[in-house]
Order: sequence, then C-alpha cells, then structure tokens
Amino acid sequence: MKSIPENVFVAMPKAELHVHLEGSIAPSTLVELAARHGVTLTPEETAPRYAPGTFAQFIENFIWITSFLRGPKDYALIARRFAESLQRQNVLYAEVTLSIGVMFRRNQDPAANFAALRDAAAEVPGVQLKYIFDAVRQWGAAPAMDVARIAVELRSPDIIAYGIGGDELGLPTIDLRPVYEFVAAQGMHRLIHAGEIGGPEIVRESIELLDVERIGHGIGVMRDERTMDFVAARNIPLEVCPTSNLRTGALARQIGRPTAGYDQHPLPSFFRRGLPVTLSSDDPSMFETTVSDEYRHAHQMGLTSREIVQLAEASFLHSFLGPTEKRAMLDKFHSGIAALGLV
Ligand SMILES: [Zn+2]
Repeated sequence: MKSIPENVFVAMPKAELHVHLEGSIAPSTLVELAARHGVTLTPEETAPRYAPGTFAQFIENFIWITSFLRGPKDYALIARRFAESLQRQNVLYAEVTLSIGVMFRRNQDPAANFAALRDAAAEVPGVQLKYIFDAVRQWGAAPAMDVARIAVELRSPDIIAYGIGGDELGLPTIDLRPVYEFVAAQGMHRLIHAGEIGGPEIVRESIELLDVERIGHGIGVMRDERTMDFVAARNIPLEVCPTSNLRTGALARQIGRPTAGYDQHPLPSFFRRGLPVTLSSDDPSMFETTVSDEYRHAHQMGLTSREIVQLAEASFLHSFLGPTEKRAMLDKFHSGIAALGLV
C-alpha cells in the first residue's frame, strides 16, 4: 500500500464534527487560566489530569479542568487558541461542542460566555466554526432542558445543533425524549454521545426514541451486527474518535479487556461495512492528539489513501451546514486534495 507522507495529514483540508472546546485546553493554558484566578498550578497537579485512565476519571478531570473557566474572558482565551490550532492544521470547518450544562451548573451566564468565545474565534481567519450546545446527561433531564431552551433563545446561524454528553449510563434514554422533542419542534439539529461506554442498545434507543441525526462515538455497535445494519440503513453517522476511546478506556470496556490498542478499534471495519463514519479528536489536549493525528492513526490502522480521502470528505458531507455552504466547503476540500496529489 502506498503510504501517505507524514505532513499530508496536517496539510489535508479537513472538517471536524466532534470536538469539545473545553477539551482543547492545553496544560500551559490551564496554568494561565488558574493564575488569572489566583491559583498556582504545578505540573505535578496538572499532569495526572491529562493522563489516561478510566471513563469515570476522565469525566472527573473534565469537570476539574473546566473549573478554571470562570467567565467570558476565559472562554475567549481558549476559543482563540483552539481556532488557531485548527488553522495550523488546515481544518476549514468545525462543529464545536460547548458544555453549556457546565456553565449553568456554575451559575455563569452562557449568553455572555458564548458571545465572547464566538467573537474571539471569529478573529482567526481561514477556519469557520459553528457550535453545538451540550448538556451533561448525568445531571438529569431538567438541566438538559435548560440547555435546550437557551440554545433556542440565543438561536443564530452560529448555533448549529443541540447535544448531550457525559455519562450515557447516568440517565435512561427515554427520560430525554421531551427535551429532544422540544429541540426538534424548534427545527434544531440533534445529536448525542451514545455507544461510547454503553452498548448497542443505547445507540438504537437514541435513534428510535430521540430521533438524533448523528451519534457521538457509537463504537458500542461493534457488539451487535443488527445494530450496525440498523445504523447503516438509517444513515446515521457515527463520530468516531479512536484516541479518545483508548485514553478513556472506553474501547477496552467495549471489548471486555483490561486495555485496548488502535489495532482493536472498529473504525476500519465500520468504514468497510458501509457505516457512515467521521473522524474526530474529541478532547484533543486532554488526549494529547489532534484531528490530523487521528487521520495518521486511521492510515496506520490500514485505511488506504483513497479511503482516508473518503473519510475526510465524510466530515464535510455529514456536517449540519446548509446545502450552499456545504457545497462551497466541499469544493475547497476537493481542490485542496487535488493540490496535494491525493486523488
Ligand atoms: Zn465527546
């Protein structure tokens, strides 16, 4: 197999559909944020928060890291740095998940935080960002509805979808139905994290009960052929994030082993089975990865250069952009790919 040169993964035009702004905070930025609030963090304190562990530890680390985001200026700082990191990697477009649930939990003003981060990111040229307002599942249906309401209230072309993350085992899917019905009635796009640590049944329930349009992760479907066929028949994209699944222990949990490696990840089999899949970094700084690295891993997992191009194109195709904007993005993607000699 002809292998793709290392620099191409960065140079290749890309879109990213599953990436959390708060998961993009580099350790050095965290130290800077903490200092703004009079807290001195040592490397010994931050390092374990960025280390591999269990899914429960990951959730705990996410909450701890975000505790240093205390207002609009903090969100503006991380948004600008995040947009710059995407620009460096030739990411043309991203749908960025914002943990609005965390802002509410800390009695912050999501509208002020959002305006500040959106404006800061918009100053970075060459990358277009849209936002997904995200609730935290284990905190319950009522706070999830609060996030849905503010998404509708602040509605603008920048807010592209509503989603739920966190611990998918923390609340039965059916409890979220009224929230998703409300969001659908408002004409907003909908997605959810499911089948990350949970089984195939949670993916199926999310599609059948909540009518979601994309699934965050979805690797749990690897355990059930019928659910894989169901996802393919419904054409519901799975936003696959391999390094995340290794670092949180989610893949090991799915396959019932103490550890798991890239060679056990279902991405290549999903792809070749015809499941709609996209590739993302999830929480790039927390997992010490980038979306470019994820393409390199996918290539090492056996995807050919043609398949890598198809996978990269899928993130544009499955974005929530309207037809005109999507066409324009796809044109840029195709001309970038042709310039790199990948087709
Ligand atoms: Zn995620």
